Amino acid sequence: MRKLTIAIDGPAGSGKSSLARRVAQILGYLYLDSGAMYRALGLKALRAGMTSDNAPPLAELARGTHIELKSPTEEQEAAGFKNRVFLDNVEVTHEIRTEEVAKAASLIATIADVRHVLVAEQQRAGAGGGVVMEGRDIGTVVFPHAELKIFLDASAEVRAERRWKEHQEKGDVLTLPEVLEEVRARDKRDRERKVSPLVRAADAVLVDNTAMDVEETARLVVMLSREREKELAQAASRAG
Ligand code: C5P
Repeated sequence: MRKLTIAIDGPAGSGKSSLARRVAQILGYLYLDSGAMYRALGLKALRAGMTSDNAPPLAELARGTHIELKSPTEEQEAAGFKNRVFLDNVEVTHEIRTEEVAKAASLIATIADVRHVLVAEQQRAGAGGGVVMEGRDIGTVVFPHAELKIFLDASAEVRAERRWKEHQEKGDVLTLPEVLEEVRARDKRDRERKVSPLVRAADAVLVDNTAMDVEETARLVVMLSREREKELAQAASRAG
């Protein structure tokens, strides 16, 4: 059976990473978190003291940066990390998971030339199919011909609560209203930016998981994948 390209897009805290990782595990596909790439570059920009309104140097920074995603170790997986992230060959898996880095990522993600560099990387990484990639523009820009597209959403309050719980587990001192405000600000930036805004692709299946857990949502997406696989196999046998 031909392996699919599965695109999962949605706002912050919608559960894309958990879902994409689980679906990839069940199907034996590669899991790729495009947001981790924006975060890694955001971290590098923060460390270099570069501001987000200075687009040319940031695009230059992106071109000179090497970002690699790998599977997590068992310990990292148990601690809730879904992939390992290397920035210029140094691991930054933990460092990129702060609200400060998330904000820096969403600011640099508004720059078209930065996006071009990272989108090209993502297209290369997922070129062979058999991949579940999650982000904001996977079904619209990175893989517009993906065989299955999911737009994952949940209420802002539920998404903020999920993020807040993750921060609590790590011992971060952030209040729920603070996280909700940050989630709302990031949503607004992601949805209203001029380049590749967060929108549901016309052919994406809308899944609202406000009242669903990861396992239920993953079962639904795996079922949709099996249906797509069958449809494609039938179409191929008719054609040939
Ligand atoms: O998914 P995550 O919250 O880790 O992404 C961090 C930020 O990176 C997002 O708020 C968004 O601004 C940006 N991003 C993007 N396009 C993607 C993935 C992430 O613009 N495909």
